[in-house]
Order: sequence, then C-alpha cells, then structure tokens
Amino acid sequence: MSLDVGKALKNPGQVYPFRAAVTLPEMEVLSDPVRFEDIEVEGEFFCTGDNRISLRAGAAAKVVSRCCRCLERVEADVRVQIDALYAKQPDPDDPDLYSFEANAVELTDAVKDALLLELPMQFFCKPDCKGLCPVCGVNLNHHTCTCQEGNVVTGPFSALKEIVLNNEEV
Ligand SMILES: [Zn+2]
Ligand SMILES: [Zn+2]
Repeated sequence: MSLDVGKALKNPGQVYPFRAAVTLPEMEVLSDPVRFEDIEVEGEFFCTGDNRISLRAGAAAKVVSRCCRCLERVEADVRVQIDALYAKQPDPDDPDLYSFEANAVELTDAVKDALLLELPMQFFCKPDCKGLCPVCGVNLNHHTCTCQEGNVVTGPFSALKEIVLNNEEV
C-alpha cells in the first residue's frame, strides 16, 4: 500500500490525514511462523520541506502465531505507533530513513518494522500452558501421560504400587 504524497511535497508543512489497509506476507520470526491479519493504519503525514515526508500513524492488527510450548495456534491483537521519516536520498547519518520514489510513499516496511518490534519474544496459548510431553509428544493441556512420573524408569507394577501406597495413607 503506497500513499500519494504529491500534494504534500508541493505544500511543505501542510498535514494530510490518511487511512490505509496494509497486507504483509507470512514471515518467520525466531523460527516461528508469524502472520499479521487485518492491518489498519490511520494517521497523517506532511512534507518537512527538504523533499522528506514525516509520517505518524497508529496501526492495529491481529497477529497469528503458535504457542512456544504446545505449538497450538495463538491469536493476539497488537497496536503500534509508527513514526517514520521518508527521504528520496539515503542519508548515511540516518539509517532509520525509509526511501521513496516519485510521489509514492510505501507503507509496508515501516508498518512491518513497527509490528515486529512490538512482538513478544514468545507466544503462549495461556500463561500456564503445560506444553508437549518430550517423550511421547501428547499435548499435556488436553491429555495426561505417564512418561515423566519420577525420573526413574518405572516397571509395569510400580504405578500400581503407588496407587496402593497412596490409598494406605488415606
Ligand atoms: Zn500452549
Ligand atoms: Zn508422554
């Protein structure tokens, strides 16, 4: 999604509001698939006078990834502020500048950068997600298994023994 900044370039200082929908391809962040959906951007831009465009906006999106423990799908709403400066010439003193050509300012990169900055390091389906059993792989939120009962290798009757012992204590 690009903005036509032709008028702004001719009228430095004049503020132009805008609203835009942006789409980003699915990406991989720290080896997790991350997808942003329904990205809405709303804000304003103006020319600072030297063929540069200053843009300020808020973006809202839904982020879809997976739980770092059980790998189930996780969805969350994200809101970010975008504060970007666009120039026609790259400036070695300012590596944060976004470049633009002719009268079209491309929103995608700044939106993507802002959203990625706001992303948590890890997603959890719930704070106390039990994850997957490292031995048999079942999702411990939905199933139970006996793989990790104690650290000793258990024989076929040890589980039975435990039940008997527990019953005696009652
Ligand atoms: Zn989980
Ligand atoms: Zn298991």
